[in-house]
Amino acid sequence: MPRKCVVCDGEPEFLIKGTNDLYCKGCAEESFADISYLEKIGEQKTSEDEIDQLIEEKQIE
Ligand SMILES: [Zn+2]
Repeated sequence: MPRKCVVCDGEPEFLIKGTNDLYCKGCAEESFADISYLEKIGEQKTSEDEIDQLIEEKQIE
């Protein structure tokens, strides 16, 4: 169960930079006025190393 929103246990779309906190889109928008603090999971520009540290099952190629 490596990937879930820390608020609602939903499917995460965002990762807070420098942490292992994952948020779904709705909770991210509720919790952060500016979601530019967040890394969007699954985009190539997201650091793969950073994701790999958090998520051991690799979903990103
Ligand atoms: Zn959520």
